[in-house]
Amino acid sequence: MALRNILQEGDETLSKRCRPVTDFNSRLHQLLDDMKETLAAAEGVGLAAPQVGILRRAVLVLETNVPEGQPEEIIELINPEIIAADGEQEGPEGCLSVPGVYGWVQRPDHVRVRAQDRFGEFFEIEGDGLTARAFCHEVDHLDGHMFLEISDHIMSDEELEEYYASEDGE
Ligand code: ZN
Repeated sequence: MALRNILQEGDETLSKRCRPVTDFNSRLHQLLDDMKETLAAAEGVGLAAPQVGILRRAVLVLETNVPEGQPEEIIELINPEIIAADGEQEGPEGCLSVPGVYGWVQRPDHVRVRAQDRFGEFFEIEGDGLTARAFCHEVDHLDGHMFLEISDHIMSDEELEEYYASEDGE
């Protein structure tokens, strides 16, 4: 495995639409393994192939809603499609391609995604809260969209502090 360079906002690759993955081969597996290592090193909750310069529809999402004591799981989604969404959440959203910047973004609170695994097998998966937010954020990347385009406003350090202080108090 190897770390890949994460492209930063302004790189035109990030605004391009990605092509579907058609070959579920060792090259794809290498990409996914490298993305996993890159995501873990960057301590992010999601990473899309275009962020490492590959214009293919493949993303990783960290499932953080796991029972206490169990490790968080990285979900691989190839050719993902959001097939159902409901509820609504609002909160700060960030991106490894825009480090240190958080914008206030509205997302569905619950989504259902259809995707393929690294071997081409179809599966469906659901996500709530942060996981739902990450699914939406990563699928947007595959169509060349960044969270900044749909953010109400960029949050100041003060606003972020206040937000997290109130979250902890809940
Ligand atoms: Zn992102």
